[in-house]
Amino acid sequence: MTERNLVLAGGGHAHVEVLRQLAARPIAGWRVVLVTREVFSPYSGMLPGVAAGLYRPEQALIDTRALAARAGATLVVDRVTGLDPDARLLRRAEGAPLPYDLLSIDTGATPDTSRVPGAAEHAVPLKPIDSLLARLDGLFAQAEGGQTVAVVGGGAAGCEMALAMAARLGPRGVRVVLVAGVGGVLPRLPEPAVRRMTQALAERGVTLRAGEDVAQVTATALHFAKAPPVAADVVLWATGAAAAPWLEESGLRRDARGFMLVESTLQAVNRPEVFAAGDVASLLPEPLPKAGVFAVRQGPVLAQNLRAAAEGRSLTRYEPQKDWLVLLSLGDGRAIGTRNGLVFSGRWVWWWKDWIDRRFMARYQGAAS
Ligand SMILES: Cc1cc2nc3c(=O)[nH]c(=O)nc-3n(C[C@H](O)[C@H](O)[C@H](O)COP(=O)(O)OP(=O)(O)OC[C@H]3O[C@@H](n4cnc5c(N)ncnc54)[C@H](O)[C@@H]3O)c2cc1C
Repeated sequence: MTERNLVLAGGGHAHVEVLRQLAARPIAGWRVVLVTREVFSPYSGMLPGVAAGLYRPEQALIDTRALAARAGATLVVDRVTGLDPDARLLRRAEGAPLPYDLLSIDTGATPDTSRVPGAAEHAVPLKPIDSLLARLDGLFAQAEGGQTVAVVGGGAAGCEMALAMAARLGPRGVRVVLVAGVGGVLPRLPEPAVRRMTQALAERGVTLRAGEDVAQVTATALHFAKAPPVAADVVLWATGAAAAPWLEESGLRRDARGFMLVESTLQAVNRPEVFAAGDVASLLPEPLPKAGVFAVRQGPVLAQNLRAAAEGRSLTRYEPQKDWLVLLSLGDGRAIGTRNGLVFSGRWVWWWKDWIDRRFMARYQGAAS
């Protein structure tokens, strides 16, 4: 019997679970290929902790080479650039296209720098995370008193990064500004969480600018239509997620923001042999927020459905949770949490977050990594 090909595009949160399950139980007759542009896949839940100096970078990185080896999968380190769905070929930047019988996409999203003039040239997006870590290393080495770091985006990632910058660079006299724009701080979280986060930002000396979105970014400042500009030596960009441009030519049906439309089986609506999970996917009938918790929860369903599709069995439906735990690092060994409308904060919340995050990483870092 000829071997068939399962290609996993991207080493995101759902695919690391697929690989973990393949290591425990391979699919007979199938060759598995993982193509990812970064060998070390970052776990975003711990990233603000890395930026704050609470973790070493390697504690927040999953070694996909080791994971692929345990799963018997071939690792291709390359950037996916497109898809030929009729020929069932996945195109990539530096090598021959990869043929597939089943394809699964978990390539995530990036902060959207396309809508604001100058953002793409002058701001540092929080993803890809490997280039962010390199930029942060440079910043930590060279930052000096009197400089300003601006973080644009008042959501969870923006608030956590602003606090991390304050923890790391505040003692060296660097000023941190959080530009939360029209949406303000933590727009989707309950009011007590917003209050506690605003208080934490003030306690750490972070200047908060809210009420107006950035209109333009230059090499030295953020400009607004009405408000005065904010001078900034470094701008970190943490605004809403954008879809990868390569999806435009993929032949896959997409939502209005450019993300792949998937059924509850995680199959592309117009290509049942193509699956997707995490931020790259837009679930029907209601898209989910772009948050790692969903990619993590989709992992086991994706693993089960790829196996079922390979073996010609019926597929399972992914049912998103209605409410989920949000834990936000305050960068100083404390955290804020919310679930079911309840809000809590303090050191014990950080210990809880730390325990959950370390337990998650232990599943994928294994003895062999
Ligand atoms: C600072 C920060 C903190 C966050 N904190 C949280 C949090 O606490 N909780 C939470 O739920 N969410 C959090 N998020 C959001 C979270 O990062 C995303 O929702 C999550 O990473 C999505 O997972 P994913 O599997 O879809 O993709 P990702 O984790 O983005 O993984 C995508 C993978 O695909 C690879 N890839 C991408 N494009 C290509 C390509 N063209 N070719 C090949 N490989 C490619 C990447 O290298 C990466 O390995 C945070 C985000 C940031 C930036």
